[in-house]
Amino acid sequence: MKCFKGIAEKAGEYERWKDYDIEVISMDDCGGCPGILMPKVAIIMDMGKLYDRDFDAIHLGTCIMKATQTAKCPIDVEDIKKKIETKFNKEVILGTHPY
Ligand code: SF4
Repeated sequence: MKCFKGIAEKAGEYERWKDYDIEVISMDDCGGCPGILMPKVAIIMDMGKLYDRDFDAIHLGTCIMKATQTAKCPIDVEDIKKKIETKFNKEVILGTHPY
């Protein structure tokens, strides 16, 4: 719900899209510890092709960012950002809503 509110208000990391009409075409979680983001993104890429729903960018959730900063989340967000951008050629933005 926080992500959808952030999108509607173009708040937090969504503010960068304030001059654009934006649409979220998919949302997923990390898959549980230790985080399986690469296979999850691969599935979203495949589904996007299947349903003709391309996209420009991937936001890693504020929940993941907080988990890495305040708990013991094993995801290295800078490393996974580089890996996703290299393999899938999609911009990765660290964070979503500001709430
Ligand atoms: S701690 Fe990190 S890897 Fe584990 S469930 Fe939370 S976000 Fe996913």
